[in-house]
Amino acid sequence: MRVRLASCLLLAAAVSACPAPKSGESAPPVIHAASMPVGSPPGSAGAGPVVGGDKPSLPSAKAVSATTPRIDELPPVFVDAAERITAAAQGRTRAWELLAVLSDTFGHRLSGSRALERAIDWSIEQMKRDGLDNPRREKVMVPHWVRGAERARVVAPIERDLVILGLGGTVGGKVRGEIAVVDSLAEIATRGAELRGKIVVINQPMPRFDHERHETHYGETVRIRGSGASEAAKVGAIAVLIRSVTANSLRSPHTGALRYEDGVKKIPAAAVTLEDAELLARLARRGKTTVELSLGAKTLPDSPSANAIAELRGRELPDEIVLIGGHLDSWDVGDGSTDDGGGCMMAIEAAALLKELGLVPRRTIRVVLFTNEENGLRGAKAYHAAHGKEKHVAAIEADTGSGAPRGFGISGTPEEVAAVQRFAPLFEGLGASVLEAGGGGADISPLTKDGVLSLGLHPDASAYFDLHHSPADTFDKIDPDHLERNAAAMALMAFVLAER
Ligand SMILES: [Zn+2]
Repeated sequence: MRVRLASCLLLAAAVSACPAPKSGESAPPVIHAASMPVGSPPGSAGAGPVVGGDKPSLPSAKAVSATTPRIDELPPVFVDAAERITAAAQGRTRAWELLAVLSDTFGHRLSGSRALERAIDWSIEQMKRDGLDNPRREKVMVPHWVRGAERARVVAPIERDLVILGLGGTVGGKVRGEIAVVDSLAEIATRGAELRGKIVVINQPMPRFDHERHETHYGETVRIRGSGASEAAKVGAIAVLIRSVTANSLRSPHTGALRYEDGVKKIPAAAVTLEDAELLARLARRGKTTVELSLGAKTLPDSPSANAIAELRGRELPDEIVLIGGHLDSWDVGDGSTDDGGGCMMAIEAAALLKELGLVPRRTIRVVLFTNEENGLRGAKAYHAAHGKEKHVAAIEADTGSGAPRGFGISGTPEEVAAVQRFAPLFEGLGASVLEAGGGGADISPLTKDGVLSLGLHPDASAYFDLHHSPADTFDKIDPDHLERNAAAMALMAFVLAER
């Protein structure tokens, strides 16, 4: 509690209003990088909010391979940059303060919403204040799906409201019918005609996070969300309710995009909480259970949006690019701090930190805050169409939350991956030295397919899917020190890749 209070006080002192708003809306504050102390040792006078006695000591995750060099065997320019960036991140909370303004001012930012467009404008203004080069919008047309009012109730044999969220892209509609509960996506086809005319409940659990291997089971489980509606429609179901794709729940429903298969009837689809999925399964085991579902969802014509872009122009090879970024859009619940406001603020802060420290690398570092990752990937596609021919030497995406720093996942040739892994000792001071093979991000995936060296920032993701796409994805879950050290790790990795 002390942590947050101290930082909020600092936030109040550090913000100022940006220029008069054009549309009569009140303007959000802009955070001045210059007002933030850089490089002061923790606890020293003027070092900003002391992140308290409960500040975690910096973990020193060990580098991955036996062939990793000692830090003194690495080029001094990188060792010096690592020391300065690591020192600057100590006690600094600017990324967290930026995220507070983003999340509190605009809230969630679904494609097509006014909030997303205002957040894009604010981010560009922020990058301009940070002195980055050529801050700009690059226009992208995005899908515009709106949720509308929604409700679901058990009406027999008991009466009980269910906590739901329509899946992104669902059609609207009102249905009432008997439920049929299946334990997996595969069971739908097996039971076939038996499900005709029913509301199918897919109660497939997502296994808990594997801490030993640091792995989530999201990928295999999320297929119920993507394909459940069309699979159920193929056997004549009238609607589908999926168990939220998360391993843990305090009765939070989790949304996310579905994909209707071409030529298959579009039926209403929503997620229920784990608790309500279990309730429905118990009721159905005892006998006939009837549910009413009403979804007000609509798909409107595509809407103009933009990628928000700015650069730290390289001093020798400005046409060669290291991209850093995340996605600024979010689902329409919570405030999208974890997915992916934090990743975007890391990218802004990473570039600002390098600029402040005078660490301008040989190549250009380009910040890209993508639009429409969640329900279309149009920002990623538009960026690739406009810039895919430029020479990208690497791309780094942060879209796995803002947990404790851990490292990066790297996709490239084995030689490229090994070359990046050699830099692991530089990241030990930030607790981010796990450089593992395999990583990237949805927004940079078109570049990855072209063979661009691609990295995903990989913080501790053990709690990520508890929050992801749910009303619980709110700013209070973000730790200022974790966010800042992730931003610093991104800055250091971008510097290394743009300078080497
Ligand atoms: Zn995301």
